[in-house]
Amino acid sequence: MNNPLFVRPRTLEEALLVLASDPLGFVPLVGGTDLLVRMQDGLRPKGLLDLTAIAELVGITVADGMVRIGAATTHAEIASSREVQTLLPALAEAAALVGSPAIRNRGTIGGNLANASPAADTVPPLLALSALVELAGPRGRRTVPVEAFAVGPGKTVRRPDELIVAVAVPVPGPMASSVFCRLGTRQALSIAKVSVALAAQRDGPCLRQVRVALGAVGPTVLRATGAEACLEGKEPSLEVLDEAAIKVQADARPISDIRSTEAWRRRMCGVLLRRAVLRLVGQGQAAP
Ligand SMILES: Cc1cc2nc3c(=O)[nH]c(=O)nc-3n(C[C@H](O)[C@H](O)[C@H](O)COP(=O)(O)OP(=O)(O)OC[C@H]3O[C@@H](n4cnc5c(N)ncnc54)[C@H](O)[C@@H]3O)c2cc1C
Repeated sequence: MNNPLFVRPRTLEEALLVLASDPLGFVPLVGGTDLLVRMQDGLRPKGLLDLTAIAELVGITVADGMVRIGAATTHAEIASSREVQTLLPALAEAAALVGSPAIRNRGTIGGNLANASPAADTVPPLLALSALVELAGPRGRRTVPVEAFAVGPGKTVRRPDELIVAVAVPVPGPMASSVFCRLGTRQALSIAKVSVALAAQRDGPCLRQVRVALGAVGPTVLRATGAEACLEGKEPSLEVLDEAAIKVQADARPISDIRSTEAWRRRMCGVLLRRAVLRLVGQGQAAP
């Protein structure tokens, strides 16, 4: 078996030209934490397009009301970013939970999105925070809401000749906060069995602009619109939390697999949503 061609462009333009020359033959490579596992399992791409030398794809900036995170930014960089910790705490929490230190130092947010696993940790926070995926290709740039990016396990709307350039998240308002809760077999080196991300604005005792995203309980990360409607505009009393926990179980579309059962996953959505709301409320009260 021939080794794949290996190309390491220094600019995005160069990378897009290489990709355009053979969109189905070249596979983008960044941290390799998903791709190399698939290659070990038999995937044999004709060419590897290493994006790690492209400076434009790395880094976190806050400008014009958006937090922009380059696609090749690692989970470790995201987890330790002051801006992300302050403005997008759910994303910082999720990035800090990915794999292990070695995986977080290699794995990137663009790779996590492109891989389109329903259990990907950074995707529920991105969805709850209304993030946009920026794509570049031969026809120019376009943005896609994270919610519409994955269309099934391992499948996205990215065209073969496009690259993910960045993720852009609107800067939340001053009374906004977000949290991420995850259950796996253990804390480290464990894929999520169920995860919940919650973003909301505090308005006195009430929650507004509530967005809830669920991981590992559907073919893609899902919005929990029933639970959102239940929490919207209300004070999260015990009765409201009970009702939201029932709604979120109806929003989930879990299956039974080697990691857990459909019934357990559904029930845990309720447990994690309760936990997320209580954490968010506590966090909001602690804010200046
Ligand atoms: C031991 C281990 C533990 C893990 N634990 C977790 C975990 O707890 N939570 C979790 O969410 N994930 C986990 N992962 C999965 C993995 O680390 C993440 O999905 C990671 O973010 C992938 O990023 P990468 O840069 O390594 O991607 P790569 O492996 O380089 O690429 C992954 C896929 O994305 C494509 N791609 C990458 N970047 C781009 C781009 N800019 N544009 C277009 N396509 C692109 C590649 O072509 C490939 O198909 C784990 C993996 C391992 C091996």
